[in-house]
Amino acid sequence: MTLTVIALGANIDNPPERIKEAYVRMSEISRLTDLTLSSLYTSPPMGPQDQPAFFNAIATCQYSGEPTGLLNELQSIEHAMGRVKLRHWGERCIDLDIIQMGEQLIHDIDLLIPHPSISERLFVVEPMIELLGADHKVPGLDDLGTLRDELKHQSISLCQDIDISGATVA
Ligand code: ADP
Ligand code: MG
Repeated sequence: MTLTVIALGANIDNPPERIKEAYVRMSEISRLTDLTLSSLYTSPPMGPQDQPAFFNAIATCQYSGEPTGLLNELQSIEHAMGRVKLRHWGERCIDLDIIQMGEQLIHDIDLLIPHPSISERLFVVEPMIELLGADHKVPGLDDLGTLRDELKHQSISLCQDIDISGATVA
């Protein structure tokens, strides 16, 4: 079993609902247990500015399969939900990225773990702190609390008025 962290993001087609839907679909992945979802956060787009704000959350789980198996499962969910690539860093109805798998370091052409952008994205670090605490460490990086301090110029907001707890799965 490996503590696994997955980032969920969306900015079109009712993003909070898409994040809930992806979370429920993730709960059906075999060899995946103990799935937990963070609060929902919103932030301005990082890529092209002429697109809606992003909504993001983090899920943690235990996964006992191979990393490439998990990537395939997540890409199947993106596909089933109708994700189409319009432009780099552009709008998407769902984006599922593997952030961390325990202490594993993977540098394949189509899979980088830990995800290379963690230390640049407060919308990843903040919900990770919510679930794992500020002392949590991703291999090769400072602890999450230090990363948050370095990213405090970025603007993200907690979506207190949007309830994604309906996505909770047994
Ligand atoms: P992005 O998430 O950067 O906006 P995409 O979701 O379109 O882009 O993913 C592009 C490619 O990133 C995927 O085909 C996948 O093979 C690759 N990739 C590399 N590392 C990861 C990772 N840790 N999690 C998810 N995808 C990854
Ligand atoms: Mg992605």
